[in-house]
Amino acid sequence: MKIWLDGALRDSDSARVSVFDHGLTVGDGIFETVKAVDGRPFALTRHLDRLTRSARGLGLPDPDLDEVRRACAAVLEANPAPLGRLRLTYTGGHGPLGSDRGDKGPTLVVALGETTRRPDTTAVVTVPWTRNERGALTGLKTTSYAENVVALARAHEHGATEALFGNTVGQLCEGTGSNVFVVLDGEIHTPPLHSGCLAGITRRLVAEWTGAKETDLPLDVLREADEIFLTSTLRDVQAVHRVDDRELSAAPGPVTAKAMRIFDERSAADIDP
Ligand code: PLP
Repeated sequence: MKIWLDGALRDSDSARVSVFDHGLTVGDGIFETVKAVDGRPFALTRHLDRLTRSARGLGLPDPDLDEVRRACAAVLEANPAPLGRLRLTYTGGHGPLGSDRGDKGPTLVVALGETTRRPDTTAVVTVPWTRNERGALTGLKTTSYAENVVALARAHEHGATEALFGNTVGQLCEGTGSNVFVVLDGEIHTPPLHSGCLAGITRRLVAEWTGAKETDLPLDVLREADEIFLTSTLRDVQAVHRVDDRELSAAPGPVTAKAMRIFDERSAADIDP
């Protein structure tokens, strides 16, 4: 596969990043996953805005967005696929072992990831660990994802593809790589950003296009919600048919099915909404 690394398209087998890169040694980095349809990135402007916000949150230099756009175009052209997800990684770069950054500047990698559409429904589990809604990294899309790796492994042990977190005050927050929505009495609700969830781009578009409300929700809402669905760049809108031991008989339910339809139609009509 052809990837972009620090200014040029390269073969992924021979591309090299320093073993002292801070992305590797201390998880000092940020990333974006961008859907690409027929070689065109979806909602790229929103992803680049969030990349810049995450960089500023970590105190990394602003990414050169012209280079990032060129990198995305080059990787998509070199790896043609009807559907793909670009993975943009931007790290603190080569530095000393320890938490102080070096002075060689950041590393930028753009590669192509998952090229298949996820199923329309899935099972999820809740995990006993909490998201910290007031941490230094809250709301930033950093590469410090080991907590998500652990939670996702727990989900897989239970035949599920996503794990949902509550926050430190017992509110519903988000999944390891997705936002969560619930349907209560025909209305769609999703946790607000102060729950500690990531400002998901799919979440934002789905909320705008369906009129979903931002509501503080107890984690227990998952036991009684009429319908539950997830949103993310990898999943689009994905209905939940099981949460822990609870089966939701008809998934996707009518409200979720409508949200899926609206998202598919609107996102197909506007590549950079
Ligand atoms: N929450 C977390 C923790 C994520 O990692 C992601 C995406 O990777 C999301 C939510 C969904 O965000 P988006 O819709 O922008 O893909």
